[in-house]
Amino acid sequence: MSGTRLSSVRRIEFAVDWPPGHVAAYLLDLDEPVLVDAGMRSDYDGGDEHPDDTLDAALAETGYELADIEHLVVTHPHVDHVGQAPRIIEAADPTVYAPVGVRERFDRDVDALAERVRDNASAAGIAGDQLDEAVEMAVESLRRDRSLLPPDAVDEWLDSGPVELGPLSAEAVHVPGHQADHLAFLTDLDGERALLAGDMALEPFRAVLLHDGLDDGYVDAVDGFYAALDRLADLEVDRVYPGHGPVHDQFDEVVERDRDRLDAQLDRIEGKLSEGLRTVPGVAMALAGDRGVRYMIPEAMSALAHLERTGRATVTVEDGVRYYDPA
Ligand SMILES: [Zn+2]
Repeated sequence: MSGTRLSSVRRIEFAVDWPPGHVAAYLLDLDEPVLVDAGMRSDYDGGDEHPDDTLDAALAETGYELADIEHLVVTHPHVDHVGQAPRIIEAADPTVYAPVGVRERFDRDVDALAERVRDNASAAGIAGDQLDEAVEMAVESLRRDRSLLPPDAVDEWLDSGPVELGPLSAEAVHVPGHQADHLAFLTDLDGERALLAGDMALEPFRAVLLHDGLDDGYVDAVDGFYAALDRLADLEVDRVYPGHGPVHDQFDEVVERDRDRLDAQLDRIEGKLSEGLRTVPGVAMALAGDRGVRYMIPEAMSALAHLERTGRATVTVEDGVRYYDPA
């Protein structure tokens, strides 16, 4: 490439059908091209196998093709961040980097996962078809996500701390809560302190608490999210490159706002208990907006577990179902 290169970062947006309507991956145009996150696969839920050319078209504009990607870095293994990974791996055989927690998670026996999810969801008061759906969804997510990012294809399992991502030196920061294994990467780009943030420090909204879904980690998800915000608050960041919403320079404000919103969500849920809602589905229903109740179930379940543990709610178990009351 000739002329003045203003930035080494190229943002690639993929359409998704939930707010804010896109997911972003970032091509770092360094000595060796690095792709951070692998976007969405448009046909992930079945449907026709038409190839999605979003990635190819964006790469072509920068003078690259799929086969040129030498390093693929995954922040967390959600479908909208690993969707195109199989195509990239097949075409480019890049060095693939992923958070170390994913290795064990993907190694999980599906029947064991199904059993834990069934137990946890039953105790949360989810029953009948909804219970079967919750179990099915957990099993399908595991199967799908690990087929998109096969553990055998990962070359480097990353822990928090200093990491070398090909030509890029970075500090990996463990930021659980949205996803239990999630790493964000602090690095130097174009003379700025840049955070490749995945789904943390999003400008439009706080990422939903999904953590490990309805698996046993739900109990620790809120604490995990707060720990992530503590770690982020200790960083100095000039510019955030997030998975959703715009690239922004409001890092401190957004991290503080996310903490306020998490505090407020716990207060709101405590308030729902005072209004007489006593179960996870009841609270989740009351909180659900456009995204539908199933996305709020893990958040409601984790929040109630947190309120219980911190003495803000009490639990009575009747017929194996946990009923929450204000403390
Ligand atoms: Zn995402």
